[in-house]
Amino acid sequence: MSAPPYLPFARPTLDDATAADVAAVLRSGWITSGPKVKAFEAALSATVGGRPVRVVSSATAALEIALQLAGVRSGDEVITPAMTFFAAPNMIVRSGATPIFVDVEATTRNLDLAATAQRIGPRTRAIMPTHFGGLPCDMDALYELARQHGLRVIEDAALAIGSSWKGEPIGSFGDLCVFSFHPNKNLTSIEGGARVVNDAREAAEVETLRFHGIARLPDGTRDVTVAGGKFNLPDVNAVVGLRQLARLPEFNARRRALAARYSARLRTDPPLELPHPGYAGEEAGHSWNLYAPLLPLPELAISRRDFRAAFEQRGIGTGMSYEAAHLTSAYRRFGYHRGDLPNTERIADSTVTLPLFPTMTDADVDRVCAACTEVLAAHRR
Ligand SMILES: *Cc1c(COP(=O)(O)O)cnc(C)c1O
Repeated sequence: MSAPPYLPFARPTLDDATAADVAAVLRSGWITSGPKVKAFEAALSATVGGRPVRVVSSATAALEIALQLAGVRSGDEVITPAMTFFAAPNMIVRSGATPIFVDVEATTRNLDLAATAQRIGPRTRAIMPTHFGGLPCDMDALYELARQHGLRVIEDAALAIGSSWKGEPIGSFGDLCVFSFHPNKNLTSIEGGARVVNDAREAAEVETLRFHGIARLPDGTRDVTVAGGKFNLPDVNAVVGLRQLARLPEFNARRRALAARYSARLRTDPPLELPHPGYAGEEAGHSWNLYAPLLPLPELAISRRDFRAAFEQRGIGTGMSYEAAHLTSAYRRFGYHRGDLPNTERIADSTVTLPLFPTMTDADVDRVCAACTEVLAAHRR
C-alpha cells in the first residue's frame, strides 16, 4: 500500500477561472494597480455594508497605515494581545508608539478586556485586538470600552474575513478593520491586505499613504503631502482576490463543517484542549482560519516539537500560532518576562495547528484524528 499524500496544514483553493483571469490581466498591458483594484475594493465594500475599503500589499502594511490614520505617534501607547502575529506589535513600534501587551482569555484566546481596562492610561491612544483564528472578540464590550476612554480601535481581522458578530459581518461596523489575503488566510490574493475605513476622507488619506504621499494638483502636476510609502496592490492580485471573494461563503462553510468534525471526533487519551466552538447560537460567526487545540503537555512524555515531528513522519503538516510576542527578543527589551501573561504563555507553549482548508475531505480529518489518538496514547506519561 502506498503512503497517503502529504497533507499540509493550509492550502489555498485556486480554480481555473482564477488562472484565466490572471492570464487576461497579464495580456492586457496593465498589470499593476488599476481597474481590477477598484473592482476588488468595491466588491469588498459590498460585503461590509458599503463602508469604504482600500487594498494594499499586505495586512502588515494595512496595519501600519491604520496606525497613521488613527493618529498614533511617538509617545503614545497601543494595547494589543501578546497572543497574536508579530505584525501587530511590530507596526506599533514602527509608528513610534509603545506596544502594551495584555493577556488573552484562556477560552477564546482573544484580548482580555477587563485586563485591558486596567492598562488604559493617559498615553493610551488605541487598542489593536486580534480576532483569534477567525473567532470575533466580544465586539459590544470592546467598543463600549473604547467609547468610554475615547480610544481608536484597529481590529486585526487578518484571520476573520467572513466572520460575524450577532449576524453583522466583521468590518461592517466599528472603527478601522484590517484583513489579510496571504495564502494561508480564508481568502487570498497571493499577498495582499485591506483596510475598512470610516469615511471618504480616511479613504483618500489611505490612497496617499499607500502611494508615495502623492496628491494630484489641478494643473496636472504632483504634490507630495506626506512622506508616504509604497504599498499598492497590483491588478494581477486583485483578480485573484475577486474570484476568491465570490467563493468565500462556500469556503467558510466548508471550514466550519471540518472544524465541527474535528471537535466531534478528537477524543484522545489524554484529551486535547479543543478550541472555542464559537459563541452559543452564533457558531456561523466563526470563520475558522485555524483549528488549534492545546497539547496536554503535563500528561505527556513527548515535547511539542516531537509531537509535530511524529505528524510530519505520518505525512501530516502542522503549524504553530503563535509564539508569545512579549517573550521575543524585540519585546523583552520593553521589560516583559515569562510569567507576566500566563494564558498567552500556556497557549504559546502548547498550541498546535492542525490541517484545515476548504478542499480537505472528511477522510483527511479522520486521518488527522487517528494520528492524534495514536501519538498521544503512545506517549502518555
Ligand atoms: C497573517 C496575519 C497578519 C499579517 O498578514 P500579512 O498579509 O501577511 O501581512 C497579521 N495579523 C494576523 C493575526 C495574522 O494572522
